[in-house]
Amino acid sequence: MSIRATEARAIIGPRADVDSVPLHDPVPAPGALDLSDNTNRWGAPPTAAAVLASFDASSFARYPSAYSGELTTAIASYVGVEPSMVVTGCGSDDVLDAAIRAFGGAASVLAHIEPTFGMIPAFARLNGLRPRATCLTTAYDADVTALLREAAIVYLCVPNNPTGTGLPRDTIERVVREARGLVIVDEAYAEFTRGSVVDLVRSSERLLVTRTFSKAFGLAGIRVGYGIASPSLVQRVKRSRGPYKVSTISEHAAVSALSFDRAWVDARVDDAIAMRGRLMTLLRGMSLEPLPSQANFLLVPVRDAARVAGHMRESGVVVRAFTGLPYLSQALLESRGDALRITVAPLPEIERAVAALRDARDACA
Ligand SMILES: *Cc1c(COP(=O)(O)O)cnc(C)c1O
Repeated sequence: MSIRATEARAIIGPRADVDSVPLHDPVPAPGALDLSDNTNRWGAPPTAAAVLASFDASSFARYPSAYSGELTTAIASYVGVEPSMVVTGCGSDDVLDAAIRAFGGAASVLAHIEPTFGMIPAFARLNGLRPRATCLTTAYDADVTALLREAAIVYLCVPNNPTGTGLPRDTIERVVREARGLVIVDEAYAEFTRGSVVDLVRSSERLLVTRTFSKAFGLAGIRVGYGIASPSLVQRVKRSRGPYKVSTISEHAAVSALSFDRAWVDARVDDAIAMRGRLMTLLRGMSLEPLPSQANFLLVPVRDAARVAGHMRESGVVVRAFTGLPYLSQALLESRGDALRITVAPLPEIERAVAALRDARDACA
């Protein structure tokens, strides 16, 4: 091999940041009860599902609209902003990735609360930023001063995944007011709290609020998410995102859901909140103390969470195990930072999950 070829190889090597990001977990076995990803266990909304089933495929030879104009208008009226304040994407992941890419130069800091949505440190590294974790406090609040220090981007998730906890509005307002760079508030679970800070985008050029069709709207498979921000910030995220990210059929399904399935979504949110209370009661009956949740899942401190989740998986119930969590509650201290995250579901599924958890704890005791 010539010296030239060796040099070329050294120069073109893959980015270490990219190699450091793991591939996503394998999907659960068919037939398993999957309570691991916080999607809507009541299914997809009926009108959107009908649109997907009967879509005229002749339009598939053409590209979709570059930035999903029709969907943008529908989202704007749902949220109560102007269309110039909405950016769509292939899932809200796409909007988060594009926003992170648009801000923060090489090696600048993306500050996030800990624990939080696992994709965030990955998106930071993939875009050449350094993720920096700041632990939630024991009151499930954020240490704003620590979070803001030298941060080009601050990411907050409200309600937070995986804890399910909210953040005081004062805390979010202070971050937005004092941050020098971009502030992202991820409201993937906003429908379950019926609260939002989307109103703050009118008074801040720095704030991007992201939402999704993957959770309360029951449409994770069509991959549609969006961001709400000032028109200038929206323009920037659109440039960074690039055109054609939402497919023709996904745009139609999402528009149909917003136009005709809102009552269905509201009713399923009511169901999820009721079943969240039911699951909480059943778990407390087993001497477990889940964190107070404002979302469609509970974080349940359990010792040996990975082993317990493995046993549950063998009985056909898939939940997500976490280890090494900060000791945010007495129960998390007692579980040494281990916990299971369980998606809220219709009652028969919750009862099946609780039975599987009881058996798994007995087996691991
Ligand atoms: C599920 C989830 C999302 C949604 O991602 P999509 O790409 O829209 O499916 C975003 N943020 C958080 C915190 C989530 O839990």
